[in-house]
Amino acid sequence: ERRNPAQPEFHQAVHEVLETLAPVLAARPEYAEPGLVERLCEPERQIIFRVPWQDDHGKVHVNRGFRVEFNSALGPYKGGLRFHPSVNLGVIKFLGFEQVFKNALTGLGIGGGKGGSDFDPHGRSDAEVMRFCQSFMTELQRHIGEHTDVPAGDIGVGGREIGYLFGQYRRITNRWEAGVLTGKGAGWGGSAMRPEATGYGSVLFAAAMLRERGEDLEGQSAVVSGSGNVAIYTIEKLNALGANPLTCSDSSGYVVDEKGIDLELLKQIKEVERGRVDAYAERRGASARFVPGGSVWDVPADVALPSATQNELDENAAAALIRNGVKAVSEGANMPTTPEAVHLFQKAGVAFGPGKAANAGGVAVSALEMAQNAARTAWSAERVDQELVRIMNDIHTTCHETAARYGAPGDYVTGANIAGFERVADAMIAQGII
Ligand code: NDP
Repeated sequence: ERRNPAQPEFHQAVHEVLETLAPVLAARPEYAEPGLVERLCEPERQIIFRVPWQDDHGKVHVNRGFRVEFNSALGPYKGGLRFHPSVNLGVIKFLGFEQVFKNALTGLGIGGGKGGSDFDPHGRSDAEVMRFCQSFMTELQRHIGEHTDVPAGDIGVGGREIGYLFGQYRRITNRWEAGVLTGKGAGWGGSAMRPEATGYGSVLFAAAMLRERGEDLEGQSAVVSGSGNVAIYTIEKLNALGANPLTCSDSSGYVVDEKGIDLELLKQIKEVERGRVDAYAERRGASARFVPGGSVWDVPADVALPSATQNELDENAAAALIRNGVKAVSEGANMPTTPEAVHLFQKAGVAFGPGKAANAGGVAVSALEMAQNAARTAWSAERVDQELVRIMNDIHTTCHETAARYGAPGDYVTGANIAGFERVADAMIAQGII
């Protein structure tokens, strides 16, 4: 904490991993090699830059841009860009640190990184977002490349932003280098199923955890937070598998819909109109109501899928979910559950899938997008979907078996952390002290 002051989210993420590594450090003395854990906790490179841009009235704004290149032992740095006013170095470092383990868990050749800006896209016109993205990329382009560092989307960065970023990269470098960004549009190098992948993957992970306990996701009610990319495709996959998603939310409050969320209406409001969830309740009719500022976790359900942001599910929320009989929690977002809440779930015997494992479907399909770009080809949606299902089931099995092997059966947090750690650590040891 002395070394990284005022970075509480980063400390939280590191603490959560180190807390679970004791059994593997004890069992495999080569990992106790001085410096290995210290090197893992120190990013290889951290870039902070000025992002000046002009709004539609000609006023100049100055935001701060970040890219933390955390670990490239397994492949080029890979991880999203977040545009949100809460972004600072500590937030990006926590996300980059988590990304290293998550990417290792996918079994694919990708290192870990993360970036973004404290820019707030809410209420900005397309032209303003474009100018911001162009200014952001004017600096970022020096640091990225298909073999170096491959950013993608995250909160506040979706298909529109990736388009503007890619356009500026291409213009400055004079290269058609599709593999430099993932989450591109379907017609210009994007992979089928990339928008769906994180949400679909998180539901597949929930289904795998339930299957492990002899239960089926079909027929279960679900509480989902958020109403962005991850939440929308979480709801879509829940519907497809016969479950019943009851809620969605944004920073203004949540909506509960007794008939189940009407996905077409939600997509229209969030993706087309870029509106708020209260508009959903207004237009949906009697089955839905909007609860301003409330906790979505008060809604009783069998499965919970937090899909908005970090630390959105605290111990009070966990206690409410447990009281209402929740069976499984699958983290679509990164670190949405506080450590106290995770412990409550585990004590109560709720199946808990940490984000590193449960939301890895997005980055996995990003790696498949890189593979398609490298081969200058495009796979069918069916093929990518099959790969996604296989990868999520493999991640589930790896976490489950690793946890059992290290004396923590059913503990997916320990399983995910140790399995991810082993793969990165083996590569780092083989590559020497760098
Ligand atoms: P979006 O920007 O598409 O959506 C974010 C949603 O979360 C919005 O509904 C937003 O509401 C809400 N939200 C964000 N910040 C807050 C906050 N501080 N308080 C309350 N609500 C908030 O982002 P994504 O769906 O892409 O990302 C959601 C989560 O999933 C993040 O944790 C991200 O890191 C994680 N993730 C995303 C992946 C991806 O492929 N996109 C991959 C793996 C993880 P509002 O509009 O009001 O801000």
